[in-house]
Amino acid sequence: MQKEEISNVTIPFIVGDGIGAEIWKGTQSIMDYAVQMAYNGQREVQWKEIYAGEKSYRQCGKYLPQETIETLQQYKIGIKGPLTTPVGGGITSLNVALRKALDLYSCIRPVKWFSGLPSPLNHPENVDVVIFRENTEDIYAGIEFPADSEGNLVLKSLLEEKFPFEYAKLRYSQDVGLDIKPISKQASQRIMRAAIQWALSNQRQKITIVHKGNIMKYTEGAFRTWTYEVAEQDFKDACYSKRVWLNTLIEKGKVKANSDKAKAIEKGKIYVDDLIADNAFAKAIANPGDFDIVVTTNLNGDYLSDAFAALVGGIGISPSANINHETGVGLFEANHGSAEDIAGVDKANPCSLMLSGAMLFDFIGWSEAASLMRTGIIMTIQSGNVPSDLHAQLSNSHEVGTAHFCELIIDNIK
Ligand code: NAD
Repeated sequence: MQKEEISNVTIPFIVGDGIGAEIWKGTQSIMDYAVQMAYNGQREVQWKEIYAGEKSYRQCGKYLPQETIETLQQYKIGIKGPLTTPVGGGITSLNVALRKALDLYSCIRPVKWFSGLPSPLNHPENVDVVIFRENTEDIYAGIEFPADSEGNLVLKSLLEEKFPFEYAKLRYSQDVGLDIKPISKQASQRIMRAAIQWALSNQRQKITIVHKGNIMKYTEGAFRTWTYEVAEQDFKDACYSKRVWLNTLIEKGKVKANSDKAKAIEKGKIYVDDLIADNAFAKAIANPGDFDIVVTTNLNGDYLSDAFAALVGGIGISPSANINHETGVGLFEANHGSAEDIAGVDKANPCSLMLSGAMLFDFIGWSEAASLMRTGIIMTIQSGNVPSDLHAQLSNSHEVGTAHFCELIIDNIK
């Protein structure tokens, strides 16, 4: 959604659980301040609080009221703090429910190092990757059958009767939880299309499909096949597929050479290759500079984005956007969870939520405000005054509380 000419915008927001209130307070004031500085009163944000999570439950007895979903549909944008999901029982994830209700199929997570950020790498400047995580399917579909539930028993008896060979693969058929992992052609191809389009608009050179298709052949393996198809068919003039190139070599009986990426870049095309997930994780640590854009399934994307984030300061600093490119709805959120262990003690790093706010401004065409926010954050971190998570990783830094850190960012935007 581009709204370059608009002067006022209403942004619905969800404060979130745990550290949500602390990081939201600073984020809201920095977003307001950046708009004021960038547009000198010509543009303004009207904030509209909507509810989800514990605050919502306290207010109306519902964790995710329908009104919240409808407001996001109406205004097409929103920003949210983290929401708690209990482990092993209780309510299902509200984050997943929001993504599903609004069909926010692209989870876009940019991870980039800048000077001043801690890193375990010798060359952190090589880290500049954007992860496109498919957001609606996979194990997150929530088709779960607890051990000895009715559905579990029905599924097992169906397997036993109709597919005895598969049934025999259950190592223990008693007390076994079952999850279904749907991966469709449609969902795989729309995330790939979004990634290629984003690569074209942002002059990126490479897309790596990450999957575990050697083991889960008909879900993760199919994801690989279907995503390659988009590059090879819908975007054949813009993309150079490693799969096609390798097949051609094999057909011609030639040995594998190592010049395919160079060839693609020389031709001005986006080079599309793929990696098996475990290899991708190893390479993310050993050679993160090899990654430019990653397209992957939901669970891989969840793990991989936190792993990449750990290379440039951690989950406290990496932003996230959930977008449906057809309806134009975008929900921007902190990458991390509700961090109950540090809630209420002024120790939370607000940068992930703030940088997600900057992504929201870019999304609506308010790039000047986005850029001021990023500059303020970078300058403050470079001054060595940082929240506790960054302080723990930076030897020459001074720890400041969340609220003071936000004041320093405002000073640096001035
Ligand atoms: P978490 O991200 O909340 O915390 C993991 C670790 O990172 C903790 O030690 C925490 O203190 C630290 N941390 C996280 N954010 C930080 C920040 N901004 N500043 C400083 N330190 C920070 O992950 P978790 O403990 O696995 O999950 C807690 C809850 O959050 C769970 O209920 C989980 O389901 C939920 N969660 C929500 C989202 C979301 O809302 N999108 C994402 C992930 C987890």
